[in-house]
Amino acid sequence: MTIRTIVLDNVASRCDGCREIINGTPWRVNLLDVVSPEVAVGWDETALINPGPHQFHGDPTCVRSWMAEKGYLLCRRGEVREIMRPIALPLDPPAFGLCDGIHRDDHEFVPA
Ligand SMILES: [Zn+2]
Ligand SMILES: [Zn+2]
Repeated sequence: MTIRTIVLDNVASRCDGCREIINGTPWRVNLLDVVSPEVAVGWDETALINPGPHQFHGDPTCVRSWMAEKGYLLCRRGEVREIMRPIALPLDPPAFGLCDGIHRDDHEFVPA
């Protein structure tokens, strides 16, 4: 087990945002399960979210470029954190907005 741990530590991980190698500890971002009764029936597999963890350089820019690539919107009242809550948005095509869920007022989703 010790050897396995060492090997894992030495494997270069790549940033999900800019695809460059991450030196040191990656910034891991997890998406919580979608628990929303508002999710419309009929969403197909493409609407499902990969909860992660997704790993990035310690830079919100990398996370945002990943979000943009995936078509997620970002709530500008929150910040990019290790745990993000996906909120299903009634858009066509359906999209998810990501928010840290800390603020108490309404979300304001904008393109990441
Ligand atoms: Zn990066
Ligand atoms: Zn929000």
